[in-house]
Amino acid sequence: MQQVDSAVTADLATEPHPLALALAAMPEVWRSLLIDHERDSYGRCAACRTSGTPGVPWPCTLRVAAEDARDLSDRAVSQSRSGVCEAS
Ligand SMILES: [Zn+2]
Repeated sequence: MQQVDSAVTADLATEPHPLALALAAMPEVWRSLLIDHERDSYGRCAACRTSGTPGVPWPCTLRVAAEDARDLSDRAVSQSRSGVCEAS
């Protein structure tokens, strides 16, 4: 009674960010985002802070998307290890 075909997306608690889906295919990009978009001592994103603005509360959108991309990537790796390949 399990819908295996739709389990990949239905299993997620929340819908992944469209940006995260795109980033998941680009590990170099989300890895550098995770490195750059760190929390500074004021609780704001160090990378999104630009001159003239106080900064963006951390985690910023890019940080969240990068973390989601990392999760999606980990999920894809574990699925391919278990022999399940949903990728088209
Ligand atoms: Zn940021």
